Amino acid sequence: MFLKLYDDAQKESIELLLTALKAENLSFELIETAEYKLIHLPKINRDYDVQRFINDASVEKVIPIFSNMPQQKPLKANDPSKRFTSKIMDIMPLYIAGPCSVESEAQMHAIAKIIKASKAQVLRGGAFKPRTSPYSFQGLKESGLKILADTAKLHKLLSISEIVSENDIDLFIKHGIDIIQVGARNMQNFSLLKALGKIDKPILLKRGFVNTVEEWLMSAEYLLHHGNPNVILCERGIRTFEPSTRTTLDIGGALVAKSKTHLPVIFDPSHAAGDFRLVENLSLAGFAAGLDGFMVEVHQNPIKALSDGAQSLKPERYLTLMKKIKEHY
Ligand code: PEP
Ligand code: MN
Repeated sequence: MFLKLYDDAQKESIELLLTALKAENLSFELIETAEYKLIHLPKINRDYDVQRFINDASVEKVIPIFSNMPQQKPLKANDPSKRFTSKIMDIMPLYIAGPCSVESEAQMHAIAKIIKASKAQVLRGGAFKPRTSPYSFQGLKESGLKILADTAKLHKLLSISEIVSENDIDLFIKHGIDIIQVGARNMQNFSLLKALGKIDKPILLKRGFVNTVEEWLMSAEYLLHHGNPNVILCERGIRTFEPSTRTTLDIGGALVAKSKTHLPVIFDPSHAAGDFRLVENLSLAGFAAGLDGFMVEVHQNPIKALSDGAQSLKPERYLTLMKKIKEHY
């Protein structure tokens, strides 16, 4: 990292800056030539708030180059010796399917039959829905969790549902939800991540739609750092300038995440596309890219769905898609 000093920076103010750096135990070198004055700080890494030096009277520019440092990587998310403690983490490719929201017992039983027949392993269903509008369906809450868990068990499927508050962790455990989903909107809810780090249930961590891959990995790192090694990453589309899809499925970003960690990386074509007509080909693209599985929304009667009907596949389309995936990948 370099600090470029003003050409006319006063000797006294440079001295003050050097004294401050010494007081912080930072190693540095002052480089003065006829053309420029620089301070080189070789040991500063990317965690350090380097931009604050701009407040110093003699600093014209902060040049955050870390060329002689290895690129900072998540502490544990790239450690292959970090063992998963849940067997669920070994089920790859992972096929997760089901409605956006749990709506009723009858709905879940009917859809669970389809999901089981498709040979997917996990039944999804939201009970705590993080809706953009407070007037939209908010989910059946605890009774939704119970319906999902009971239905999944009955059909010998695993269950997954989204959590929105650490206050609900006990409910998810009480009802035996197998995988806890952290949604895009909560990817950087650090108090939730810390709390989920203290349990050992697998966590599906969706990428926030305005977050970089690095931020996503750092959120995974919170879970690992606080003690939960069982983390599955899920790319679900990011917001770009393109309005013709709900978001842009960032397969490249998912591949970068995969190259940087030992964690499985799956994708969600439904929330990315926002349109059921795109879901099949996006799914094939994700599997062709070598991702570790997917999560897809399926509903018996999408037109009547209480949330995300537009992107939900009808059972027949879903079954055809699963057949294709199993044939080709
Ligand atoms: C969901 O899976 O139901 C959901 C709300 O997804 P996301 O957090 O990706 O928007
Ligand atoms: Mn949804």
